[in-house]
Amino acid sequence: TLASSLAIEHVETRAKENSIHLLETEKAESTCLSIVVVGASGELSRNKIFPALFALFCEDRLPKNVAIFGYARSTMTNEEMRNMISKTLTCRVDQRENCEEKMDQFLKRCFYHSGQYSSEEHFLELEQKIKENKSGRLSNRLFYLAIPPNMFVDAVRCAERRASSGNGWTRVIVEKPFGSDIDSSRELTRCLKKYLNEDQIFRIDHHMGEELVENLLVLRFSNLIFEPLWSRDYIRNVQLIFSEDFGIEKRGRYFDNYGIIRDIMQNHLLQVLALFAMETPVSLDAEDIRNEKVKVLRSLRPVQLENAVVGQYKGNDVTSCAAYTNEPTVSSNSLTPTFAAATLFIDNARWDGVPFLMVAGKALHSNRVEIRVQFRHVPGNLYKQKFGTDLDKATNELVLRVQPDEAIYLKINNKVPGLGMRLDLSDLNLLYKSRYRREIPDAYERLLLDAIEGERRLFMRSDELDAAWAVFTPLLKELEEKKIAPELYPYGSSGPIGLHYLAAKHSIRWG
Ligand code: NDP
Repeated sequence: TLASSLAIEHVETRAKENSIHLLETEKAESTCLSIVVVGASGELSRNKIFPALFALFCEDRLPKNVAIFGYARSTMTNEEMRNMISKTLTCRVDQRENCEEKMDQFLKRCFYHSGQYSSEEHFLELEQKIKENKSGRLSNRLFYLAIPPNMFVDAVRCAERRASSGNGWTRVIVEKPFGSDIDSSRELTRCLKKYLNEDQIFRIDHHMGEELVENLLVLRFSNLIFEPLWSRDYIRNVQLIFSEDFGIEKRGRYFDNYGIIRDIMQNHLLQVLALFAMETPVSLDAEDIRNEKVKVLRSLRPVQLENAVVGQYKGNDVTSCAAYTNEPTVSSNSLTPTFAAATLFIDNARWDGVPFLMVAGKALHSNRVEIRVQFRHVPGNLYKQKFGTDLDKATNELVLRVQPDEAIYLKINNKVPGLGMRLDLSDLNLLYKSRYRREIPDAYERLLLDAIEGERRLFMRSDELDAAWAVFTPLLKELEEKKIAPELYPYGSSGPIGLHYLAAKHSIRWG
């Protein structure tokens, strides 16, 4: 009868589910993951990587058999490293009483090994420690390179030769900078690929792990109302803004060699631009998304000096903030830009002629990361004809605020309530903290979890990196060869005046 055959089907399905569950549990029990933080004594490890791993541990997102190894040249015992990292672990995820207990459990899984980054022998000793802690048959390795870039290749060589996983996977997270121009980036990729396959390399840009950046694709591809407007037909310009209200702090040595274009524009803002402007991917698979991003990057015109402004912060007597050139470890005649703005153009059918204005700067008056989309004017606007409404007021604007206070809002024209007819530009507002009570995870948590799970969508592929360098390398070369002096702007101001001229040149409403 139908009832009994349905009952049999139900029992069979349950049996199948149980056996899949058993298989998965068995797999989890027999697999172990060793995470090696190379450069464990450094700031990034202490402030970001270990706290992110702890947050994942609290949320039960790490595999059951996980061990975490710190590796660096400094001499430390296991206890000393545990002591060091315990200072930056927080109970953000698990605020209940058992957080302390969780911390103890986590720290017990952390070990330290001191060694040189170019010593195969020292990596072999590390491997011995990994093996001592290994439980289970299948062993996976995740290395996080939190060391200066000139040490990347040596560390990868030693890790691959002496500490890579025999029977599981080995993956390596590489921190930026990935070279300083197209040639050095290609050279770094070539050297890394002597020891690793492309799919083992996870080039991390932590800004890609931010909630709003992830949401950009959801917004575009799971709502009907945005995608039809997402082109030159309706969008007048797009602004990608990265503004910090503090200077370079202790990063002088690193920053003075790289500058804001390499630090923020060539990677982070360009990645966001690619996600913003790409065509619909075939699927949400990493390779499909990355294929579409590469197309956009390759369609970008290399930035011209005439479409760029560079600036550098000077001291502010009122707030007693020091000039960039007075920062420790920065040379007093440095021409390194701490601010840059550039208009970029994508030569394809969707975006022909639409300026993408990138603005990135340090020591500015605001702290924000935003994508602002300005729409075209309403054709034959009735309200403008009758009431002479200010033309600019009539344009809609969509703002995605990545930081701080994640939000999405749309500026729309609205009638001011009352007997008269007055228009007002007001916001349709989605403020994350009022809509979602849950704490937003740190970008490093998402990216570490993705690397563990083999999800590559938010990591940069080598052809993407190459295409991204091609956009900015000519500008960087010209700035450096011609020794272009950056326009000085006071610490805490809105940046160089040149930005306003650049925006006006491309009819962009700015500020
Ligand atoms: P640190 O300068 O703190 O360096 C990390 C560790 O590397 C140090 O603890 C030190 O360990 C070792 N190290 C430092 N200098 C040298 C050297 N000249 N030769 C060999 N080893 C050295 O860097 P961070 O932790 O701040 O950052 C790590 C990496 O991540 C860097 O490449 C940086 O560019 C990148 N990055 C950092 C960000 C941040 O927010 N801090 C953001 C984005 C990228 P020991 O002496 O014990 O071996």
